[in-house]
Amino acid sequence: MYFTLPQEYRSAPVEELRQRISDARATLGKKLLILTHHYQRVEVVESGDIIGDSYGLSKIAAEQKDVELIVFCGVHFMAESADILTSSNQMVFLPNPLAGCPMADMAEMADVLEAWEFLKEFGGEKTITPISYMNTAARLKAFTGRHGGLICTSSNADAALHWAFERREKVFFFPDEHLGFNTAMKMGIKPEETVIWDFSRERGGLTVDQIAKAKVILWKGHCHVHTNFKPEHVDQVRADYPDIKVIVHPECPHEVVEKADASGSTAFIVKYCEEAPSGSTIAIGTEINLINRMARTYPDKTIFELSGQNCPVCANMYRTTLNDLLYTLENYQDLKPISVEEPTRSEALIALERMLEVV
Ligand code: SF4
Repeated sequence: MYFTLPQEYRSAPVEELRQRISDARATLGKKLLILTHHYQRVEVVESGDIIGDSYGLSKIAAEQKDVELIVFCGVHFMAESADILTSSNQMVFLPNPLAGCPMADMAEMADVLEAWEFLKEFGGEKTITPISYMNTAARLKAFTGRHGGLICTSSNADAALHWAFERREKVFFFPDEHLGFNTAMKMGIKPEETVIWDFSRERGGLTVDQIAKAKVILWKGHCHVHTNFKPEHVDQVRADYPDIKVIVHPECPHEVVEKADASGSTAFIVKYCEEAPSGSTIAIGTEINLINRMARTYPDKTIFELSGQNCPVCANMYRTTLNDLLYTLENYQDLKPISVEEPTRSEALIALERMLEVV
């Protein structure tokens, strides 16, 4: 896909962008809702109405029955989910259509179907519940809904796994192996009861015996931002700051999560920073825009990024600029909204509604 903004929008000075965004918001009034993910640039967050994680923002999108126009400053799968959860007379726009998620792209429909064909030999949907992380294309959410599964986010992954095991013996979790593994360990599943389905290998690189014994079949996918964090980063900050608290996102590798004081979704991280006593020192393992915002919001606390040497920026979240936002607000009538077609929409909705019920 090729996308470029008209020159007028590319070259406008920041102050002009801010002013015109503010004017457009005033003109659109209550028709408009701008949702911004925690990983967005600071100036984009400041221009939005509500900031949140993918779970919180989906919930809000589903509740906003009177809003006509939702501008979702995030990545593609988030805007798709918002479109699925809203009614057909509401329009959802993604200001930068190139903002995708590399982790979501690690689970291709054809590969997941091939895996599922094989897993049918182990009972298919009689014994295995598919759990799709929010970071997937709508087609995969539809697959999940069709086969009695649900969507999870890092906010409700524990509850989603419990929900699944109350119904069937095994879980097929995609596409983030780390979130799946960390959640499984939290609920007491043994490491040897999990296997990783490597989609690049014949039959996932697994034997019949391995799958038969597994409780959780994890897709071999990851987030390149969160897998930057290493256990030695935790050791280093603990050596440098004896009273430090280390908080990481569950998309980080298990060895990092194990060494941290706590792990949780972006909403959890935000709450942790808010509730930490004044004077606290906190190292965070997640995307840098969120960390920088926490450091600015709580100047009475020392908050910084865990690795100290890398800059864990999500380039995809970073794509959305004030220029894109203004262009969308001033030209939405000529732009194509995000639209998930039937039957994908209805099938994905089943899985998303289950997600919203499971907390
Ligand atoms: S931080 Fe990772 S999982 Fe989140 S949007 Fe970026 S690449 Fe995807």
